[in-house]
Amino acid sequence: MSNINESSVAKDVASFLARPPKLLIDGKFVEANSGRSTAVLNPATGQEIARAADADVSDVDKAVQAAYRAFDYSSPWRRMSALDRGRIIGRFARLLEKHGDELAEIEVLNGGWLRAAAKETEVDLSVRHLDYFSGWPSKIEGNTIPVAHPDVMVRTEREPVGVVAQIVPWNFPLLMAVWKIAPALAAGCTIVLKPATNTPLVALRLGELGLEAGLPPGVLNILPGSGRVAGQALAEHPLVDKVAFTGSTGVGTGIAKSVADQVKRVTLELGGKSPNIIFNDAPRDGAAAGAAGTIFFHAGQTCAAGSRLYVESSAYDEVVASLADKANSMRVGPGVDSASDMGPLISHQQLNQVRSFIDESVSRGGEVVAGGSGVPDGVDANGYFMRPTIIAGLDDNAPAVREEIFGPVLVVQPFDSLEEIARRANDTEYGLAAGIWTRDIARANKLASMIRAGTVYINTYGLTDAAAPFGGFKRSGYGRDMGHENLDSYLETKTVWTSLT
Ligand code: NAP
Ligand code: MG
Repeated sequence: MSNINESSVAKDVASFLARPPKLLIDGKFVEANSGRSTAVLNPATGQEIARAADADVSDVDKAVQAAYRAFDYSSPWRRMSALDRGRIIGRFARLLEKHGDELAEIEVLNGGWLRAAAKETEVDLSVRHLDYFSGWPSKIEGNTIPVAHPDVMVRTEREPVGVVAQIVPWNFPLLMAVWKIAPALAAGCTIVLKPATNTPLVALRLGELGLEAGLPPGVLNILPGSGRVAGQALAEHPLVDKVAFTGSTGVGTGIAKSVADQVKRVTLELGGKSPNIIFNDAPRDGAAAGAAGTIFFHAGQTCAAGSRLYVESSAYDEVVASLADKANSMRVGPGVDSASDMGPLISHQQLNQVRSFIDESVSRGGEVVAGGSGVPDGVDANGYFMRPTIIAGLDDNAPAVREEIFGPVLVVQPFDSLEEIARRANDTEYGLAAGIWTRDIARANKLASMIRAGTVYINTYGLTDAAAPFGGFKRSGYGRDMGHENLDSYLETKTVWTSLT
């Protein structure tokens, strides 16, 4: 039975990969005006697995115009009841569930995901996300306002913000797209989404399932293309009302600057360098497993990774030794092999960048206690694999301690007091997440209130939920993904005054 399933999934995926490169505009798959396409690689082999269309400025205009028409006041989407909008999002969730194995397989082949993680993270969390937001459209309500003027009635209405540009990165190609799409649809917006150049495929399949779920043409347009050309043109297009961006701090701040004159709404989910703090009294096994899990999951390519580990001095040697054992025992390999514990990085460029942090750390006296920049044993040398790595002995100013590495590299340092660790945890330009491990819950909560980060985990790390807001303080961004705070960012408030005389 499972063989039949596997081979039908493999057939579906093979025929999807063999499709000619297209853009999804106004409910149809169309060629890019330029006729250009780019290679899509499997990061576990370095081999080309498909071609993706490369949208240019004229394609961006076409997609935005389609989204603009779909947002017209008399369009089917705008005239649809809130309840029906929710039903479509619910059907969208069911279709993701139905095609879960196929979507996960695309993530394994293009995103470098381990098969089980692709299913549990990319697919299952995306389904839950759509389910959560499917309930919202019919609960978006305004207020009546008791103003001081006589004989007037004042009410507020919550309206969709309009055409939204959504630009997402390569680390969670499906989930990041769904994080953005679901609340925008719930609010009643129309969308042009640009996936990352490294991972353009799954979003096209997602857009197709959206059409099958009943989204009218033009409501969800998917536009593979380069950030510098298509991404920039999309963000700056005058008919785009809001830009929702997830990616690096450099690109995000550039977008915010370039659209400031147009007074576009912008939300930014950016990088992180999150502290993970283990006190001596922490449940040791859980803390060590959590510390390894947060940095080695998806080869460290997660924005909230607890990449700076601080261990109370009296527990330091023991915790570091146990982490080194864990790192050394992990099997690095492709996601298609169920024995793999960690897959490849996304690209050769990313691999070189991560390695250079390790080499630089060694040259300034850092001690590699596990892993290192060499090629792991037994992997395809054309893939972008590296070993789970732990570096000790760096000072607080080392680049590996300050900068986002976005790879499986953990820096570990000892600390001695609560005040000291609060200061060092906050000594970063970022503020996305933090972890605290201790049995002393009063101390944990005191430290949680001292740390400037959008999410603080106590005795756990890395959970997310569609209902729980997620986003950054400081240079990790502004706005929130998930929760009703996210929905708010796709809504405008209109105040309506009516004379009663
Ligand atoms: P990136 O280079 O900033 O790219 C993100 C997206 O922006 C891609 O689609 C990219 O297209 C596009 N882009 C690049 N230049 C652009 C421009 N000038 N105008 C408009 N769009 C442009 O980030 P990345 O390297 O793909 O992803 C890693 C980063 O994302 C990390 O810093 C990580 O922390 C952050 N991240 C944050 C979160 C969060 O929720 N806070 C989640 C995941 C990742 P191309 O692919 O063509 O370059
Ligand atoms: Mg990039």
